[in-house]
Amino acid sequence: MKKNSIYVEPDLQLSEKIRSLRQKALKRRKTLNKLQLERPVSFWIKNDRLVDEIGKEFTIILRTKGCSWSLSDSGGCSMCGYIQDATGEDINQDLIIKQFDYAFNNKIKEIIDDDNNYIIKIFNSGSFFDDNEINDKVRMYIYEKIANIDNIKEFVIESRLEYINLEKLKGLKKNLNKKYIEIAIGLETINDYIRNYYINKGMLFNDFENVLNMCKENEIGVKVYLLLKPPFLNEQGAIDDCINSITNLIKLNVNTISVNPVNIQKGTLVEYLYLQNRYRPPWYYSLFKVLKKSVSQKDLKNVRIVSDPTGAGTKRGIHNCLNRECENTAKKTLRNFVLSQDLTLLDQLEFECECKRKYSFEKHFY
Ligand code: SF4
Ligand SMILES: [Zn+2]
Repeated sequence: MKKNSIYVEPDLQLSEKIRSLRQKALKRRKTLNKLQLERPVSFWIKNDRLVDEIGKEFTIILRTKGCSWSLSDSGGCSMCGYIQDATGEDINQDLIIKQFDYAFNNKIKEIIDDDNNYIIKIFNSGSFFDDNEINDKVRMYIYEKIANIDNIKEFVIESRLEYINLEKLKGLKKNLNKKYIEIAIGLETINDYIRNYYINKGMLFNDFENVLNMCKENEIGVKVYLLLKPPFLNEQGAIDDCINSITNLIKLNVNTISVNPVNIQKGTLVEYLYLQNRYRPPWYYSLFKVLKKSVSQKDLKNVRIVSDPTGAGTKRGIHNCLNRECENTAKKTLRNFVLSQDLTLLDQLEFECECKRKYSFEKHFY
């Protein structure tokens, strides 16, 4: 970690365990070939919620060296296995341009010909502003490619706090001044203890607030990722934590909140606990409860609440009883809410499953 970066000493035992699990998984991984280095991890277009309307997202996941926090002695965050997609070592920046171009050239005609408006998300499973992952030249290249495409209305990148500074914000704003910009930050929870001792995030809420203010002063939006059900919390504890985070973040006027239910990723501490039956991903019922208790329809005029769970409806992702009807109903209900931002849709489950009784009993124990 750089000397002046925002940094919290991790719990030594926890970070040691996270690091050794991660290294074991990385050893089992196949070496990436030349073609994989020239292609992004993935890219897609699908329906999404834009600030004022339903539109489409164009997401590109670039393959970089990997998140510096994950590669550091801290071991990284306890639920995050994204390092498995990264190179782990320096990658020629021209290859990152190639990756971007591959996805961009593949989809740009479809986007330009589309009547929908778009949000473009450039992710790298780490920090877009970390020069060790993506350098300034590549960032500028990406901004220039996107700047003049009229129906791309919104631009989102992700970064840890320590890489967000005035210079980077100004560069972004100057080059994309016609678009609404958001920086997505993995705050996970507003609770410093849970964030640093259960998630091993190495980040303080105070520092988040400073960055939030800096973004506001530069007319850049902030999207916050919240983690639903970090390890070492039971279902009820997770609900309480998430409600507490959302209500407080709404008061702070963040622009978008993305609730991310934990999914079990390879080589993580969460996977280790899961394989020992010491962790279960959250239930859909918990997510719906969080949304209903923490947000009002009035709030949704000023904040966008989204959730697009990975692995949803499977054992390793958010799920109820795994009955297909039960999972599909929950998935559809969540999707409809996110696209419409209409809370009443959360009460309109087309299928009431009997697993809700089991859930009500279990939520205080697991
Ligand atoms: S969650 Fe984000 S900060 Fe944490 S290890 Fe993963 S990429 Fe890095
Ligand atoms: Zn069910």
